[in-house]
Amino acid sequence: MTTDVQFDSIAEKVLNGERLSYEEGVALMHYPKLPELASLAHYVRLKKNPEPIVTYVIGRIVSYTNVCWVRCKFCSFYRVPGHEEGYTLTNEEILQKTRELVEQDGVELLIQGGLNPKLKIDYYETLFSEIRAAFPEVIIHGLSPAEILYLAHISKLSVPDCLQRLKQAGMNSVPGAGGEILVDRVRKEIAQFKDTTQEWLNFMREVHLKGMRSTASMMYGHVETMEERVEHLIRLRELQDETGGFTAFICWNFQPEGTDMPNVQKASAFDYLRTVAVARLMLDNFDHLQASILTQGPKIAQLALKYGVDDLGSTMIEENVVSAQGSKFILNATELERIIHGAGFEPRRRNTRYERV
Ligand code: SF4
Repeated sequence: MTTDVQFDSIAEKVLNGERLSYEEGVALMHYPKLPELASLAHYVRLKKNPEPIVTYVIGRIVSYTNVCWVRCKFCSFYRVPGHEEGYTLTNEEILQKTRELVEQDGVELLIQGGLNPKLKIDYYETLFSEIRAAFPEVIIHGLSPAEILYLAHISKLSVPDCLQRLKQAGMNSVPGAGGEILVDRVRKEIAQFKDTTQEWLNFMREVHLKGMRSTASMMYGHVETMEERVEHLIRLRELQDETGGFTAFICWNFQPEGTDMPNVQKASAFDYLRTVAVARLMLDNFDHLQASILTQGPKIAQLALKYGVDDLGSTMIEENVVSAQGSKFILNATELERIIHGAGFEPRRRNTRYERV
């Protein structure tokens, strides 16, 4: 257990603007006094974003296919190829969903799905071009690293070429999904067929080199240790030093319902708030931290605004992946603004690039 003396010396480094080490990150993860962690993380939040403003985006998730051969143990969304419940939306259905997004003043279309062996590069080029032509103002925040790595593979393209073609077709940025925990011991245990730590990081480097931004995420609370959570944060921080391409960091705890790991005990609110605060302190080169309303619910997300978070993410007009696991906290803009006001901040809408709209 970390002592008050150790915490005080870490706090002094934070107040002096010095970078924290791996050992200090681990010490913070083991520090029992949550309010002290909160005030230190909130101090950093105010240094990075001094205005008493909390942002959010009007967005929609379109889960265009649930067909996926990867069978991650933590996922209850996928259906293996050939399964009777497998689906792929038509382009017209996706365009209709985008139309509904625009009618609700939405700006961000997050398109994500499974690794479907039937969908090659021409499918995505056609889909993205049609969305771009019909709704030029919508930001296509598209596909996860695992989807694009697989797409490049089955389309016989290099990853840079695949990204270039997706970008030309209209894709603007990439969500940080699939980061889970960037430690291969953990990845092998929960998603043995998915990309390795290095493949995920190399992929994000390519995204940033292509001039696109991405988010970074962490799904914790399954088989990882506190030390491995800190390793994950440091790997993100190192890549951010190199490229500066991450817009924000978001973390959420594993949702065991309906997965192949049903007996894992769900992480507590205390654990969530501590993880958010430590992330704010370790990720000194990230401008923004998002709360995960979808998994934590509005009350814990509101509390997170005093633990280093400055953004409530998306209204998520539609969401299927985490919801498939039993989390159904989906709020509209009015409800998000009420949460923000309730915590003493002013709400502002933004786009995917964190520009105010
Ligand atoms: S998390 Fe993604 S890659 Fe893994 S099984 Fe689910 S849909 Fe497939």
